[in-house]
Amino acid sequence: MKKSLLPAALALAAFAAAAPPNIVFILSDDVGYGDLVCYGATKVKTPNLDRLAREGTRFTDAHSTASVCTPTRFAFMSGRYAWRQAGTGIAAGNATLLIKPSTPTVASVLKQGGYATGIVGKWHLGLGDTTPDFNKEIAPGPREIGFDYSFIIPATGDRTPCVFVENGRVVGLDPSDPIEVSYGKRIGTDPTGLERPDLLKIKADQSHSQAIVNGVSRIGYMTGGKKARWVDEDIADTLTAKAVAFLEKQKAGRPFFLYLAPHDIHEPMVPHPRFRGTSQCGWRGDVIHQLDWTVGEVLGALDRLGFAKDTLVIFTSDNGGAIKNTYDDGTNHLHALQPPNGALRGQKGTLYEGGHRVPFIARWPARIRAGTGSAALMGHIDMMPTFAALAGQALPKGAAPDAIDVSKALLDPKAKGRDTLVLQNNNQQPLALRAGTWKLLTRPNGASELYDLANDLAETKNLAASEPERAKELAALLATERAKSAP
Ligand code: CA
Repeated sequence: MKKSLLPAALALAAFAAAAPPNIVFILSDDVGYGDLVCYGATKVKTPNLDRLAREGTRFTDAHSTASVCTPTRFAFMSGRYAWRQAGTGIAAGNATLLIKPSTPTVASVLKQGGYATGIVGKWHLGLGDTTPDFNKEIAPGPREIGFDYSFIIPATGDRTPCVFVENGRVVGLDPSDPIEVSYGKRIGTDPTGLERPDLLKIKADQSHSQAIVNGVSRIGYMTGGKKARWVDEDIADTLTAKAVAFLEKQKAGRPFFLYLAPHDIHEPMVPHPRFRGTSQCGWRGDVIHQLDWTVGEVLGALDRLGFAKDTLVIFTSDNGGAIKNTYDDGTNHLHALQPPNGALRGQKGTLYEGGHRVPFIARWPARIRAGTGSAALMGHIDMMPTFAALAGQALPKGAAPDAIDVSKALLDPKAKGRDTLVLQNNNQQPLALRAGTWKLLTRPNGASELYDLANDLAETKNLAASEPERAKELAALLATERAKSAP
């Protein structure tokens, strides 16, 4: 049949199916596999995230590729395993940009494909070529690697500088009160958290006891910028408003990509007063409610603006839940009521499933069947070629060297995802490898553990000794991955 003979409605439908979707990628922070009601939580309420799952596909074998923030975000952005590049462990608040501006990123590829691109939220990938001066225009940063608009927390909530940076400039900075940031060397005369615990609204361990901002002690020192400093209780409101404002600026006819990286539920967990006491898990549960509210505001804006049907919304987390909190608001004992990582072993910072198997929900009313579930092996690292495929955009040569297009698995709950995936903790070691339903976990000292996740998801039986051939096979696969020349 000639194309021109297709009934008009069918031709229109085919055209609509091929149109590039808007993409909203929500990368929450430290949300564990057991933290949402749609993943089995019982002591919190997550109606907006549950709605997203009801209207889309809930993935049960999706991974953050690292069990801590910076390497996960590096891999998502560049499609390259962070362990291939030294210095991509958890970044200090004054680290330099970890991704060279010439490197294709998920944002630059979509921008090249005609998308309007924006990031709102936690960056944690360094800024500048040299130690950034927060009193000047800060570059290179998000703009130089593909974002038209950026409103970011430079590192994390528990690290200095405690300010927002919008399009390269600190928001609300008074030039007569310049900012200085230091990691290691003490600066200024302000008391630290260690010296004046009486000034703190939440107790902190020693590593989080340097500069005091808004009654919370942090990692790192900071002086000046008093008017620009954030108020922890208001961070979620601010980021949500900026994300919604970005959506409101978009026009039908030009696709957009919003990378929304909420601070919740990373420490310090300081919920806005309206969320306090609303969960049964103390402030940790309350910030889950706050995060769910953020997602609800974004979904509401997509509905209101008429974007919902043609927008792919993905919600996931940058690593598993943290069980042992470094801050203590007096409610930490309540966290045991609802294990952050459900039945999984381990937590943030470990290579057991609790460190990197994360919630992953994808909704796209035009293309994804509502209320479905998928057991496909998925990784954040694959988003660049996957989004490019959905956008009909070719990848530049050498882009995303460790990633594959998993758009079929995103759209079809029965389709297969990856065959293998390398997982990491903070730096070059330790690494783990998933191959099918098997997992090999290696230790820097050469020891390894082997788990059969199909029959032992909680990783209780190390089969390395009883299945030496399989352990060897996975070790060889991992060695092959490691040996690939770093592009
Ligand atoms: Ca994190």
